Amino acid sequence: MMGTTHAAFALLCYYVIAYLTELPFDAPIVLALLIFGSLLPDIDHPRGFLARQSYLFKRTSRGVSKFVTHRGIVHSLLAALIATAVVWVIAAFYDLGMLAVACFFLGFISHLAADSLNPTGIKWLQPFSKAKVRDGIRTGLAMEKFLFLLIIIAISTILYTAHPELFNIFFE
Ligand SMILES: [Zn+2]
Repeated sequence: MMGTTHAAFALLCYYVIAYLTELPFDAPIVLALLIFGSLLPDIDHPRGFLARQSYLFKRTSRGVSKFVTHRGIVHSLLAALIATAVVWVIAAFYDLGMLAVACFFLGFISHLAADSLNPTGIKWLQPFSKAKVRDGIRTGLAMEKFLFLLIIIAISTILYTAHPELFNIFFE
């Protein structure tokens, strides 16, 4: 799936949880880590979203993709846990709070969930199991664009329900 779809889907997941549990909607660092988590798994692809954003990520993803295949071990629950442990240590050092760490994990997991809708699918439990979760939505095609639109509509609906004042600018 495309980076924008992953970021939007992660936001939707967080906003659904935030709506149900009264977590903050405007928490920049939390949302930044959520989005970063949702984009990080494609670091195993040299033309992934992050790789196209900066030289540092480009070099990193070139290095990573030499050792692993796209949607290999980096797209697994094990990788999500290891990456979250690293973020946890960094977050503790900078005093970012547990919500930011949890949201990084949520972003990462939401990426795996969204990729599971793709025909290639995801082996969530690798290297322990080769069992695959997959479906029929192809990257970048009309179906994914439609999915992206649905996600944006869902995000807008939740935002409008929880914080209608944010939409005042459209009606003044
Ligand atoms: Zn992916």
